[in-house]
Amino acid sequence: MTSNTDLNDALMARARLVIPGGVNSPVRAFRAVGGTPRFVQRAHGAYFWDANDQRYIDYIGSWGPMILGHGHPAVLEAVRKAAEQGFSFGAPTEREIELAEEILSLVPSMEMVRLVSSGTEAGMSAIRLARGATGRDKIIKFEGCYHGHADALLVKAGSGLATFGNPTSAGVPPEVVQHTLVLEYNNVAQLEEAFAEHGPAIAGLIMEPIAGNMNFVRASVEFTRRCRELCTQHGALLIYDEVMTGCRVALGSAQSVYAQAIPGFEPDITVMGKVIGGGMPLAAFGGKRSVMEQLAPLGPVYQAGTLSGNPVATACGLATLREIKRPGFFESLSAKTQRLVDGLKTVAAEEGVPFVADCQGGMFGFFLLPTLPQNYTEVMKSNGEHFNQLFHALLDRGVYIAPALYEAGFVSGAHSDADIDATLDAAREAFRELPKA
Ligand code: PMP
Repeated sequence: MTSNTDLNDALMARARLVIPGGVNSPVRAFRAVGGTPRFVQRAHGAYFWDANDQRYIDYIGSWGPMILGHGHPAVLEAVRKAAEQGFSFGAPTEREIELAEEILSLVPSMEMVRLVSSGTEAGMSAIRLARGATGRDKIIKFEGCYHGHADALLVKAGSGLATFGNPTSAGVPPEVVQHTLVLEYNNVAQLEEAFAEHGPAIAGLIMEPIAGNMNFVRASVEFTRRCRELCTQHGALLIYDEVMTGCRVALGSAQSVYAQAIPGFEPDITVMGKVIGGGMPLAAFGGKRSVMEQLAPLGPVYQAGTLSGNPVATACGLATLREIKRPGFFESLSAKTQRLVDGLKTVAAEEGVPFVADCQGGMFGFFLLPTLPQNYTEVMKSNGEHFNQLFHALLDRGVYIAPALYEAGFVSGAHSDADIDATLDAAREAFRELPKA
């Protein structure tokens, strides 16, 4: 297979004239890996086709939502029906109740949920809610976790350990992040130090339980346990950002996986997105009734949205959740993902490439490193140049993985064993081309 990107090139040149960087979300621009982004013409099942009609096996799935693959018939039918009934009303619908009930039944730590339109909005609202409910200002977040682009969360660690952070974007005044404490993921000692110093001022701790924005890094069980204990002890709220992991790593989301190791484990607030919208702009945040009742119109914490609970988006999300609840769906998805990860490890070992990988449910990550990293600093020790070569070698062979080494991968119910075998064949050739140094 040869790569012929000319029609993508032409579209990119046109896009650059009217859209900053040619894209509506930065990572799509291939800035890290170089080359021209593929402009998607259409998608079906596990594949999409670019402007040149070149087919790719899709391991991004819109960055997580497409857990059933593209164009699942039941979802298409639900969306078509909903669209015929009306696109948006700005008034309540029964379908919003149905989706809320469905989400609560899957993630029982949530007693009430509010629907919004993006993960950013959900994360931002969860932070406001935690602050409003506790009457405190400070927030803990971890380096390498992403919670959307709300100002207070666009922050990286300062120079010392356990310091208040620095903005990671222009346009965010330092005062806006002055209450955000940025800590190292999986570092229990630092966490304890932060609570010892700032405990009574901490409104909440927000974390990705399995961090998908530094590729794939699990919170250790001990770290998770201490996050929960310290929040409880100091009256702070534990916020689980499951935008990526929600209904993706397990039907009950990452919190159900941790509850197996820590009996009774529950976060106070959960942020969801991606899979619960099935590819439509839909996200949510929810938690204990007493906390959620702080939201307007019941309580003093304001939050709103013109398109919140959109009828077409809720139909898409509802149909998606009903499909993934079918007996055997998650077992099969997990087995497929595991087969991909095991196969990649075997092929890399046979080709002499340092390689580690991990997965949970339908989410996976791999690193060109000898051992699985535990935090952002370790992730960033990956050889970026080798990753970029690998990315392009796979792309040239029709396998589409995330165009940055700090992003996770996703398998869908539509990926077949043959797709995974084809991926492993492509990976063997790609690994063979990598420098062995
Ligand atoms: N939280 C997490 C864990 C995410 O992965 C993302 C997006 N990748 C977000 C929040 C933000 O979601 P959105 O892009 O829908 O605003």
